[in-house]
This record gives sequence, C-alpha cells and structure tokens, in this order.
Amino acid sequence: MGLNDEAEKIRYARGLLADEEAAPDHRQAAREFLSAHRHEPSRACDNLHCYVHHVDELFDAFRVCFECKHAYRTERELIDTFNAVMTQADAEAAANGWAPLEFVPVDDAEQIFFCPFCTHDF
Ligand SMILES: [Zn+2]
Ligand SMILES: [Zn+2]
Ligand SMILES: [Zn+2]
Repeated sequence: MGLNDEAEKIRYARGLLADEEAAPDHRQAAREFLSAHRHEPSRACDNLHCYVHHVDELFDAFRVCFECKHAYRTERELIDTFNAVMTQADAEAAANGWAPLEFVPVDDAEQIFFCPFCTHDF
C-alpha cells in the first residue's frame, strides 16, 4: 500500500468525523484509524490529537496535557516518562559542561508539576 493510499484514508477518516450525520460505527472506525496513523491535526480531532505522537489518543487517560495534548495512559507512564526525560536532560547538561541538575527520580505523580514532553505546567 502506497503513501497516497494512506493519505487518502486519512482524508476519508477526517471527513467521516467531521460529518455528524455519518453512521456512528463508521465514525468510530474513523476515530480508531486516526488513533493508529500519524496525521496532521484537524478540527475533527477535537481534544484527542496528541502533538507529540501525531495520533488521536482515544483511551481513558490518567492525565492529559493541556498544551501538547499527550494523554498519559497511567500514572506509571507519566512517572517513567518524566524520569527518563529529566535523566537525559541531566546527562546533556553534564556533556555540555553545565552544572548538573542532580535530578533525583520521583516515584509519585504528585511530585511532577509539568509535562515532560512539552514542559507545560499541569
Ligand atoms: Zn488527530
Ligand atoms: Zn505536554
Ligand atoms: Zn501522545
């Protein structure tokens, strides 16, 4: 299947979502397609479009970032992502000769005050 087919399907799925008269099961299929295929955001994506992963994140999330719209599926995902991003930032600071942040990994989402993907405050 070529790229053109994929682009065509994405266009079709968005059209279905934008069409409120379309059959509910067709709209649901369109949503599921857009959750599995990278695409540009559109008004049809509502608040489901994640700007980090470029897909629509449909599931019930532990937390959704208001800025990048990434949906953290679980508290664990948020904690692990935060620790990985901060550890990486610390290593990069050291590699650039800057003072290390001396980041200590957290084990509780209550200790996380911003989205590790976009640094926007929660
Ligand atoms: Zn989208
Ligand atoms: Zn974010
Ligand atoms: Zn995401």
